[in-house]
Amino acid sequence: MSVMQPTFRPAAEQKRILLIEDEMINQEILKMYLADTYDVAVAGTGKDALEIIRAQCERISLILLDLNLPDIHGLDILRQVKADTRSARLPVIVMTSDSESEVECLSLGASDFIPKPYPRQQVVQARILRTIELYEDRDTLRWTERDQLTGLYNKDFFYRYAAQLDANHPDEPTDAIVLNINHFHIINDRYGKLYGDEVLKQVAGKALEIVERRGGIASRSEADTFLIYCPHVMDYDAFFETVSGNLNQDGSRARLRMGAYANADKALDIERRFDRAKLAADRVKNSVTNVIGLYDSSMHEEELLSEQLIEDFPTAIREHQFQVYYQPKFDVRPSEPVLASAEALVRWQHPKLGMVSPGVFIPLFENNGLIPTLDQYVWCEAAKQVRDWKERLGIPLPVSVNVSRIDLYDPLLVDKLEEIVRQNGLSNEDLLLEITESAYTENSDQIISTVKTLQKLGFRIEMDDFGSGYSSLNMLSALPIDALKLDMSFVRNAFSERKDTRLLEVMILLAESFGVTTIAEGVETAEQMFTLKMMGCDIIQGYYFSKPLPAKEFEVFLVEKKEHE
Ligand code: C2E
Ligand code: CA
Ligand code: CA
Repeated sequence: MSVMQPTFRPAAEQKRILLIEDEMINQEILKMYLADTYDVAVAGTGKDALEIIRAQCERISLILLDLNLPDIHGLDILRQVKADTRSARLPVIVMTSDSESEVECLSLGASDFIPKPYPRQQVVQARILRTIELYEDRDTLRWTERDQLTGLYNKDFFYRYAAQLDANHPDEPTDAIVLNINHFHIINDRYGKLYGDEVLKQVAGKALEIVERRGGIASRSEADTFLIYCPHVMDYDAFFETVSGNLNQDGSRARLRMGAYANADKALDIERRFDRAKLAADRVKNSVTNVIGLYDSSMHEEELLSEQLIEDFPTAIREHQFQVYYQPKFDVRPSEPVLASAEALVRWQHPKLGMVSPGVFIPLFENNGLIPTLDQYVWCEAAKQVRDWKERLGIPLPVSVNVSRIDLYDPLLVDKLEEIVRQNGLSNEDLLLEITESAYTENSDQIISTVKTLQKLGFRIEMDDFGSGYSSLNMLSALPIDALKLDMSFVRNAFSERKDTRLLEVMILLAESFGVTTIAEGVETAEQMFTLKMMGCDIIQGYYFSKPLPAKEFEVFLVEKKEHE
């Protein structure tokens, strides 16, 4: 169980008033009037005042402004406060003995006046209270836009409120926590939107329950993403149990995952803190056993690297830092294996970091919209290469390129691929398309119909990483596929210590039953190669034949092929 936490509610805090007044006697009178009810900060000069406003804007509820200051005129301060969007919302009461300036003050956005010499304590207090309340009502109206479905704060209000919590509890260790529903789109697709909404409401209810019990605030920030900002959690397992409890009990098909950035650095922008929690949640996205991800310093290093890679991307494209490597795929049905095609695999020859593997940057670029640009670059390079081999060496060799699931949402995808093929004088059969299984499970009929169109146009489709996703068998038979490429893990597992090849065999039989070509990748040894061949696997790719190679080095396979023909 988690330990009881200190209370953590912004409403209970004393409101802070910034008093901008240079005369000591006036400062003392107002402090005496107000100190019981408010936390009074005093600035004796305009410069100090602006400094405090800049630093504590979120924390201040009201400004009391004297017009005659030693350095900056009060009207100028008023102007500056109202000109800055962050502070413009702050109510300002002007204190002056000169009723002449009242009109000007009003037109600049002052809320009210307190004459000098000051009236009685009760009068001053009443004016201040009324102004603060008026402002808060207006402010709340403007911001209390809650998520219609769940009643939780929306993202904007949540972030704003989180900043207020920080201001009120600067030393309280606080966690940024993200909850996410695994494969929510599939739940929506399969069980309907009403069911999906029920799931969202359940999670929201639990999130609310937990922040009401232990302090903090909760939000639904996007479709299936929830944010919680709360006092540092001691026991994340127990916390997770609470928020996901009934979901996993009542036979619901929804599964939650959680990411936490513990004891978040308050100097960081609040959104950045939640980015980190999201990063941690994504870390366990595909894990079966792990549902909680915690942000740690190794992830910080990764985050920095990611930022750099994203920043460097446009230059890298411009300067051709991405290189396409080719790995042969052999047809093992004849007595001697025959080169059948090659897979184009991208690498980044980074000027500072050296060779960066696609395992590092592909998932990153898939998450922030850069992947279509990169993929298109790779497709062009690959098509040019196929053309070059055809023209220069007289060898036609189809090359498969990877098509990310993100690419499939591009309405111009079909046109782009055809254009690339056409520009290089190739036909659509020269470019094989590898589409990962999980792209299909993402469903949306749109993806399936796009792939169908591509297949009709003559592009051959290979389903990549087959067996790693969750596509159901009856769905598979309806999909447009020419080849199934077994996920590498089947080969790995079959030849691990237990040498249990049954699952691999089943997968190959399964693929055969669909009447499509079967491909095994990640094949490293002769034993693996022959076993797969015996099992009826058609095509084999892997270190056994060759690692992915730069185009020039790959040519040895082409020359060999030619000699055997
Ligand atoms: P993938 O499409 O499943 O590619 C197979 C990966 O396995 C490649 O890693 C390949 O180098 C590696 N591999 C091949 N044979 C063996 C073997 O015998 N043993 C072992 N241990 N590994 C082998 P790579 O090149 O690092 O690519 C990783 C992933 O990055 C690819 O997985 C693919 O999903 C993605 N990727 C690579 N290039 C592109 C691209 O141009 N576009 C997109 N969207 N994704 C790409
Ligand atoms: Ca692939
Ligand atoms: Ca694969």
